[in-house]
Parts: sequence; C-alpha cells; structure tokens
Amino acid sequence: MKRTEEVSERIRTCLGCRRQLPQGEFLRILRGPDGVLVPDLKKRLPGRGGYACFDRQCLQEALSPTRLRRAFRGESTESISVDAFVEQLLLQLKESVKNLLGMACKARKAVFGKTEVREALESGLLRFVAVASDCEQSRRQEMTDRCEKRTVPYLAALSVADLGQISGRGVMDFVGIIDRGFAEQMIVLGDRLRRLDLLERRPDALPVSTGSRKSRSREGR
Ligand SMILES: [Zn+2]
Repeated sequence: MKRTEEVSERIRTCLGCRRQLPQGEFLRILRGPDGVLVPDLKKRLPGRGGYACFDRQCLQEALSPTRLRRAFRGESTESISVDAFVEQLLLQLKESVKNLLGMACKARKAVFGKTEVREALESGLLRFVAVASDCEQSRRQEMTDRCEKRTVPYLAALSVADLGQISGRGVMDFVGIIDRGFAEQMIVLGDRLRRLDLLERRPDALPVSTGSRKSRSREGR
C-alpha cells in the first residue's frame, strides 16, 4: 500500500510547468519502442520516460515537439494529441480505480448497496464511497449529500455494471470503503481523474467531493 512512497524520494521535473516534485506525484510519459508515447501510470514499463503533472495543461505543453525533443534527447517521438493521450490515461486511471476497489472487496474492507453504505456512513466507519456514475439521479444525489454532510469523499467514475462486477453482485449503485489505506489511494486516483477530465466535461457533477482532505497527507497509519 506504500508503493508510491517507495519511489517518492527521486525528484523529477514536469515537462509542462517545470515544477519539481517527488516522482510519485507525477505521471510518467513513456517513449515506446517505435517512438509511440504512452502514459505509464505504474511507472514500470521499460524505456525512456519523461514526467508531467496529472494536468491537461501540463500535458499539452509536455507533448509539444520542443519539450519532447529535449526530454527524449533527440530520439524521435510520434506526435499524439493531448486528447488522445488523456483518453488513454483516463482508461488506465479507471482501471486502477477498479482494481483498487476489487482489492478492497477481497480484503473485506468494503460494504455494498444503499442500506449498508448508509449504515456505515452513519456509524462513522466509512472512509470513501464509490458512486455509480450512471445510477439514478435522485438516488445518487441523496447519497452524495449524505457523504458531504459527513465529509466522506466520494467518486463517481465507474458504472453500475462496473461496481456490480467488482462486488460480484450483478449491478451495484454504491460501494463503500471502510479502510483508511484503500480510501487514501482512492482519493489520489479521484483527484487525478478530476484534474484531467471529469470536472471539465461535467461541471455539474463533481466526481470527487471536497471531503476530508486531511486524509491525503502522508500521516499514514
Ligand atoms: Zn506540471
């Protein structure tokens, strides 16, 4: 669960804004064998890489020919639009959300459905709620209102079918996480999704609440 902290010592520079941060805070842009640029979310793929913030503006600049030439020391790179790149990245991030949620379920750190999630919320056990993005509007609103009241962060990135598959129960509107470690990782992923895309496209639908930001700190447990 501390994977991001293991690599956090190395300081990298964003190819876009030039900000310097620990590697764990950045996205790795990998130059694949044919000069194809791909997001390397897990930072494990072999090849030369550059770094950028999880931010559309930074990626836009990072993917410009001049920045790329400098980052990859003159090695040729295929041009890719920021939209196409972000699209791939969003898929990877959503896949990570799925995997993480699946792990929380297997570890029995999750509760399912409206009733269970509500009970856990009311008893103060809940750390995070995944809300199906295509769940019925009023049901969704009721849940997110409750989360906000309790300052529990939530994310609406996956579908009813996704949550159903993860929970092994067909279709599912809500999955709650009761473990702080899993919740902290979900908050990081949710933040990245929000900064890249969701807010921009659907300003009315906040994918991540502003709930307890404190839990983003590295106080760990
Ligand atoms: Zn940046």
